[in-house]
This record gives sequence, structure tokens and C-alpha cells, in this order.
Amino acid sequence: MTTEIGFAELVAMLNGAVANIRTHHARLSELDAINGDGDHGTTMLRAAARMEGAIAEHKDRNLQALLSEIAWALLGVDGGAAGPLLGLLFSGLSQAADGAPALDAEGLARAFEAGLASVAGQTKARVGDKTMMDALIPAVSALRKGAETGQDCLQSLKCAAEAAGAGAEATKALTAKFGRAKNLGDRTLGYPDPGATSLALMFQGYWEGVQKTGAAEDASR
Ligand code: ADP
Ligand code: MG
Repeated sequence: MTTEIGFAELVAMLNGAVANIRTHHARLSELDAINGDGDHGTTMLRAAARMEGAIAEHKDRNLQALLSEIAWALLGVDGGAAGPLLGLLFSGLSQAADGAPALDAEGLARAFEAGLASVAGQTKARVGDKTMMDALIPAVSALRKGAETGQDCLQSLKCAAEAAGAGAEATKALTAKFGRAKNLGDRTLGYPDPGATSLALMFQGYWEGVQKTGAAEDASR
């Protein structure tokens, strides 16, 4: 049972996302070659390296500060739409963390709601538009549901990862309304949106990362 996301769990979440991006970056670029300009995998590799760099340089073991450092690092990832949008997500997360030493399932839901609000302030894309929002919005709804039904953080993150994965998968049946893929019409039918796929990989990584910290704690008891 993981009742709280403290600093160690947050780092594990982020490292889980980094690992998943590294494993699947080629697939992300393949999908972006169909849906856009083919750079999403390399953009996400740069994002992953910057996340890792921010973790390595962080000194305070402070949730809000680390999330803010990651936000700035991602806002500076050039070459595409995804870096700045992810930067905004982390900026919202950081503001919601607001000095807390740890987040419970309610805090986690609130933080991601703030992250989503921050992204939604920048783009009009919503569910059904074949963008990263197709994964992010259901993932955040799952975290809210988890908090309201008394799930612990690990269960909540598992549901969020599943919801993000299902949302990304559902983009196969959609035509893009935003981003470069907008001009391709029906040609992207049958292929998931790269940004939704990377968001789903990140949420999967969050869950896997926290699961590992829980397993390590159980083993040391
Ligand atoms: P670019 O499209 O600028 O080359 P990337 O390839 O890194 O950027 O990322 C592409 C992904 O970014 C898309 O698959 C989509 O999920 C997301 N995206 C692009 N434009 C928007 C937008 N206006 N709103 C939301 N998401 C977007
Ligand atoms: Mg691209």
C-alpha cells in the first residue's frame, strides 16, 4: 500500500517515465512520421534527459521545487509542441504541490488537475481531437475517481495508467484536429497519436516506478 507520494516516490515516478520513454522512443518517432514530422521520439528523449538532469541536480528533496525545476527544463525542450505542453503540465503540478512534504491520493488528483488546467489553458484540444489530451484527460479523471473511492496512490496511478493507455489506443480511430497531423486528414486513421502514446508511457512509468519503491519497502521490512 502506498498512501503517499513523498520525495522518493516522486523520483521513482519520474525515473519510471524516463525509462519508458527511452525504451519506446523509436516507436514514438515512427508514429510521428505517420502523424507529423517524425521527431517526437527524439524530442521525448531530450525531455527524458532533461528530467533526469533536473533530478540529479536537485538538492532539497522538495516536491514543489523539483517539479518546478522539471517544468523549466521541459519548457526549454525546443523543436516541437510537446516539450512546452509537458512543461506546463509540470508547472501546474508544482504549483499544486505548494510546499507539501507528500501527496496522498487526493493531493495527487489535485496536482494533476492543476497540471491539466495549465495545459488546457494553452491548447483548445480536448478528448477526441487526437492529441496528448486524449491520454491526459482520462488519466486525470481516473486519479480523481481514485481519490473519491478511497484508492491508495499506487492503485490510483495504476488506473490512471490504464486510462491513459486506453485513451491513446482510442486515438487510432480519430483524425487529428490540432498540431501538424491536422493537415493529414484520414491518412493517420489506424495509428495512435504520438503525444497521446508518450503521455500513456509516462503514466505507465509513474505507476511502475511507485510500484518498485513499494516492493523495495516491503522487502526491507
Ligand atoms: P511537433 O508536432 O511540433 O513536431 P512533437 O512531434 O514533439 O511536436 O509532438 C507532437 C505531439 O504533440 C502530437 O502527437 C500531439 O499529441 C501533441 N500536440 C501537438 N500540437 C498540439 C496542440 N495544439 N494541443 C495539444 N497537443 C498537441
Ligand atoms: Mg513532431
